[in-house]
Amino acid sequence: MDAHPVTGQLFDSPVPPGTGWPGDPAEPDTPVAHDHDQVATLAASAESLAELDARVTVCRACPRLVEWREQVAVSGRRASFADQPYWGRPGPSFGDPAATMLIMGLAPAANGTNRTGRMFTGDRSGDWLYAALHRAGFASQPESWASGDGQHLTDCRIVAAVRCAPPANKPSPSERRTCGQWLDRDLELSSRTARVVVALGGIGWSAFLAAARRLGWAVPKPAPKFGHGVEVEVITRDDRAIRLIGCYHVSQQNTFTGRLTESMLDEIFIRARGLT
Ligand code: SF4
Repeated sequence: MDAHPVTGQLFDSPVPPGTGWPGDPAEPDTPVAHDHDQVATLAASAESLAELDARVTVCRACPRLVEWREQVAVSGRRASFADQPYWGRPGPSFGDPAATMLIMGLAPAANGTNRTGRMFTGDRSGDWLYAALHRAGFASQPESWASGDGQHLTDCRIVAAVRCAPPANKPSPSERRTCGQWLDRDLELSSRTARVVVALGGIGWSAFLAAARRLGWAVPKPAPKFGHGVEVEVITRDDRAIRLIGCYHVSQQNTFTGRLTESMLDEIFIRARGLT
């Protein structure tokens, strides 16, 4: 067992549900999905975002991803985190359940969310994202380095296309389809308050539009291609408008090269704030 970096509590890796990990939404009796159809059933029957988040974090529907996330958690840790427990479970969405703005990410990082149990927490991408969210007034603090660090989002919820860290950051088409069912329900429940979705990168853009079509929402045809600052309006089945805004992903590939600057990111969140 290793000690949690904030609380000092001792945990096994991967972390069993309901053992006191800060922010763990699941309990030992949270129902577990073991295949595509069980994800469909458990996602559709989740009556709240809290219930959905709990079910996501115990999901075992994709054998390859379950094996990878748990192998990284036990024997594949980055040397600098070797003395920390690893979450080793799917990353739940994080933030305000009544958010007017959603951020659409791709998938957890093996030594980021897969270690900390929280979206974009504990890696360089997260450093950029939370600093910008703090500047825009959505995040309570500019850093996000561990679950239980005091970070709190207001009016913002971070969701992802796939919830388990994939090898080489590449989930397979069938893994995307299976996990997309969690996303669909997340968007359905979140759309009661959400007015804006900021899609990080072309994959986040496409994943949101694909989910919107599955949900029967009206998407313009042809849908505009992804671009930084590009916008498109989607109408939900109960006639609510949601504005999708494209944003270059906060990956090091973009932030180290200057393709995405702090001011470019700030402009996106200022625009999003103005639409909520
Ligand atoms: Fe479940 Fe999604 Fe992880 Fe597959 S990727 S095991 S559907 S949480």
